[in-house]
Amino acid sequence: MNNRYSDLPVLYLKKRADRRVLNGHPWIFSNEVDTLASPLKAFSPGDEVLVQTHNQNIIGTAYVNPHSLITARLFSHDKATRLNRTFFESRLQNALELRERLFSQPYYRLVFSEADQLPGLIIDRFDKHIVCQINTAGLENKKGIIAESICAVLPETESILFRNDSPIRELESLSCYVEAGIGSPPKEVIVQENNTVFAAPLWQGQKTGWFYDHRQNRARLKDYVSQKTVLDVFSYLGGFGLQAAKFGAKRVDCIDASSFAVEYIKKNAQLNQVDDKVNVSCADAFDELKKLRSDKQQYDVIILDPPAFVKKSKDRQAGIQAYLRLNALALALLAPRGILMSCSCSMHVTMEDFMQIIQRASVRAHIPLQILERGHQGPDHPVHPAVPETDYLKAIIVRRML
Ligand code: SAH
Repeated sequence: MNNRYSDLPVLYLKKRADRRVLNGHPWIFSNEVDTLASPLKAFSPGDEVLVQTHNQNIIGTAYVNPHSLITARLFSHDKATRLNRTFFESRLQNALELRERLFSQPYYRLVFSEADQLPGLIIDRFDKHIVCQINTAGLENKKGIIAESICAVLPETESILFRNDSPIRELESLSCYVEAGIGSPPKEVIVQENNTVFAAPLWQGQKTGWFYDHRQNRARLKDYVSQKTVLDVFSYLGGFGLQAAKFGAKRVDCIDASSFAVEYIKKNAQLNQVDDKVNVSCADAFDELKKLRSDKQQYDVIILDPPAFVKKSKDRQAGIQAYLRLNALALALLAPRGILMSCSCSMHVTMEDFMQIIQRASVRAHIPLQILERGHQGPDHPVHPAVPETDYLKAIIVRRML
């Protein structure tokens, strides 16, 4: 399988299976590989290959996992590129240049996988502490080089934690674990965002410990919350609710089902000296919203930021129904002229779908609305123009008219 261009074996694509890749998409699915010309059995997870079309064009270099539906991920269109220190350092440097341009403080998502041309790799930066998430077998083999490259690009790095516990690793036949890569990653770090500071748990928190993707949506609360009552549903560490409190809200109620998260909301409220106006309930959001409705409670501002209700495309209909129920419940608690910021991080639900869900919830709740703003993930979570999955976060701000 070796070829005259390089030391790498070649992964041949079937006839007519190259259109998506030639249009810039970095994935090659197993049914697109010409397995007569390049049998998958010949590859081990993580092998680097040249990708060649049926009519002999070399598209670039990729790494392979023969056990995954996504059999190969292109990491470069240059056939000379290899997954080595030079590669990782130059990609990391490129990613860092963007974030340093965007943010004055060292708190951000440093690498967002395909969109930063590092397929399978997520890196969040908490100043001198780094949390990495590797989601593919190809990069699992490169853990050491990735850690060394991070330290080379960010010499101030004190610790690197591998939060390699995302369920999507199962698709790559990888086990889940959390371990220190470099140094001794602390139990928690302090994150600075907009006007607020948060203690975020690195080892035990959700995903990498903090959701940087909503930074701009949280900042938008500023224009809506002054002297208002606010309900932050699916609060996690209080990202929205505590920023609302700092922006001058009169009272903030936070709801989250996780007792671990709820303890952190309380701690973070104290850290920001807003604990006198923040109340926290550890409860199921649907149950709590129903209870608030039967107690005839109303809020001036409500934020809904649930976990993804549609994780797989087959769950789309059930997930859409759940979004509909949730939004109708929240609208019933909204005071006249109140504001709802409703979010969805399900990549299978588009902004258009989500607008329709809000519209249907408005009809169901008999509450006429006007749409004020539509928000997305922040620019430290760039979108790969050929990979719709990288454009996943929606936040719609609506106002109750009557
Ligand atoms: N709004 C947060 C992020 C939310 S992540 C921020 O700005 O950072 C989703 C949160 O929903 C998690 O903290 C999880 O514990 C909580 N959650 C999941 N299912 C829930 C349910 N049924 N009721 C209440 N909270 C739930």
